[in-house]
Amino acid sequence: MKKLIKKIGVLTSGGDAPGMNAAIRAVIRAASYYKLESVGIYRGYEGLIEGDIITLTARDVHHIIQKGGTILKSARSDEFRTIEGRKKAYDYLDKNEVDALVVIGGDGSFTGAMVFSKEYNFPVIGLPGTIDNDIYGTDFTIGYDTALNTAVEVIDKIRDTASSHNRLFFVEVMGRDAGFIALNSGIGAGAEEILIPEEDMGLDRLLLSLEKSRRSGKTSSLVVVAEGDKTGENVFQLASYVEENLPQYDVRVSVLGHMQRGGAPSCFDRVLASRMGVKAVELLLDGKSNLMVGMINNEMVDIDLELAVKEHHKINPEILRVSEIMSV
Ligand code: ATP
Repeated sequence: MKKLIKKIGVLTSGGDAPGMNAAIRAVIRAASYYKLESVGIYRGYEGLIEGDIITLTARDVHHIIQKGGTILKSARSDEFRTIEGRKKAYDYLDKNEVDALVVIGGDGSFTGAMVFSKEYNFPVIGLPGTIDNDIYGTDFTIGYDTALNTAVEVIDKIRDTASSHNRLFFVEVMGRDAGFIALNSGIGAGAEEILIPEEDMGLDRLLLSLEKSRRSGKTSSLVVVAEGDKTGENVFQLASYVEENLPQYDVRVSVLGHMQRGGAPSCFDRVLASRMGVKAVELLLDGKSNLMVGMINNEMVDIDLELAVKEHHKINPEILRVSEIMSV
């Protein structure tokens, strides 16, 4: 028999992403709309194990939709990987009469949620919150659009200095396993080359291509490199290799780093997070569990958490083709 849900808990876990606050707000407001109580759990699973739980009402989450980061803080928890840790977490949920959990995070957070749900037959719903957009089962994750726009804005600025000095810039953007930010910010900022983990361009092809651009009259160039790209050992090694082999180029490196995680979420991320938060609460009210909310073709969908974790979100080959054509 399905358990009646009266109180929902929400937490943010893993790396933070802009729009997590909008998602928290949406879960709390939707809970209130459906006459449910709700609590926020600080510092992800770490806070759950320590009972760092606070009652949140619809009014408590006002004026947070526009804020970057997460008001509930985020953390990684080794203790939650242990049976003892998860027992403590369950005891606190039980003590606070929380009947279901919405976990906003990435793959790792979803794995933790699934293990916990199985052990205690506890209802969980995942919302994909990560700037990398690397989660299967959704076209977009919460935070990706904002990070992408931050990257484009900065790369535009680097372009100004690159063209003033006739330089070749290697710009590293985030994405250890996925090239979504690199590919799309690269196209958006008109980069000459884009290097992503999904495609190994090879050093020789990169040299050839840069040499070709120089001969075609380009005096400055931008290469956007995803953190996890395999063409070189890292962006600095890549830049040195190119400088040694193409001495005509004055080469510089810029690593964008954590600025890509911060800042006010874009309107797209705010709306996406709001829609996903509402869907999460409605799924729980429907007696559903172990699902992730996604958006496919602008429709809210849900998929098994297990599938979301197991499968990989693939780069659209049509976008890759566009990037190739643009770098002619
Ligand atoms: P990001 O994509 O930003 O790294 P993430 O959600 O994948 O986000 P992780 O650090 O991989 O972040 O996972 C977050 C937390 O989920 C871990 O610190 C741990 O507490 C929990 N977790 C991950 N895997 C497991 C597991 N197998 N069993 C129990 N808990 C887990």
